[in-house]
Amino acid sequence: AKDKGASSYEIFQIDMVEQSTQKIHLISELNAAIEKDEFRVYFQPVVRLSDGKVIGAEALVRWQSGQRGLVSPGLFIPLAEESGLILPIGHWVLRESCRQIAERLKNGWASDFDVHVNVSVRQLIQSDFYQVLEETLQDFDLPPHNLTLEITESILIEDSNVIAKLIGRIRSLGVEIAIDDFGTGYSSMSYLHQFAFDCLKIDQSFVSRFLDNHKSEAIVSAIIRLAGGFDVPLVAEGVETAEQAQRLLELGCQRAQGYYFGRPIPLEDWPAVWCGSGKS
Ligand code: C2E
Ligand code: CA
Ligand code: CA
Ligand code: CA
Repeated sequence: AKDKGASSYEIFQIDMVEQSTQKIHLISELNAAIEKDEFRVYFQPVVRLSDGKVIGAEALVRWQSGQRGLVSPGLFIPLAEESGLILPIGHWVLRESCRQIAERLKNGWASDFDVHVNVSVRQLIQSDFYQVLEETLQDFDLPPHNLTLEITESILIEDSNVIAKLIGRIRSLGVEIAIDDFGTGYSSMSYLHQFAFDCLKIDQSFVSRFLDNHKSEAIVSAIIRLAGGFDVPLVAEGVETAEQAQRLLELGCQRAQGYYFGRPIPLEDWPAVWCGSGKS
């Protein structure tokens, strides 16, 4: 691409070809990774702000690649979505997260511990998703109220009627729904009356700025009151400092997640103080 005289258009084309070749490579690697069982689930604690008690966990997928090392989902989830590989990967994450948490619940963890699993819209709209969910709960003997599915706001825009029905069916099972990355979508307010949900998660972009930015604080404070009005718990994401945690508590936020409390790590590495607690 550095040939003298190559036009910027040609360079652009070469870059595109290189990019798509890399993409195809990565997709075939991802495919192989499924076969080789190279995915792992890490768990990040969700805490109650008033006393710092761990009341749940978010399951976050990792790819333990032979060649690349530990790959973060930011790199491969978008590609998995695009290629459809999110279906087998997401299926595995759901089952593996439920398996691990069900085992802990049987070993005496608080009966109201919530495991949060991210679900892509492509998974949600599969005709057998409901069945997969039912089977997963049955296979691991996990009470539905211990499972929360996190869906991103943007997916709610797809086809609101279809999504509303799917969510209704899932909730009728007793499984809970959290709206992830709240505040970043396009139609935040307009759909709130269309969908029933059990938890709101405020996007970390607001939390990271709200201490020194009046607009962000106004947004955070409005979302906290909004969640209160809907009578659903609100989880603030991306809390990295004691000051942020303190201010969120003052504003009336009850739950949080972030590096300040703990990073995502394998469940077997969880320190004893995180384990076995509950809401009460
Ligand atoms: P998300 O669902 O919003 O997950 C929160 C992300 O924020 C995680 O990144 C987490 O490690 C990171 N995080 C947590 N606390 C802090 C903090 O205090 N500061 C900062 N800067 N970051 C923090 P991660 O694990 O890299 O995941 C990125 C995204 O990939 C997730 O964002 C989610 O959209 C997606 N993802 C992860 N696992 C799955 C999965 O199993 N299925 C699907 N469909 N998507 C997944
Ligand atoms: Ca999430
Ligand atoms: Ca619950
Ligand atoms: Ca999020």
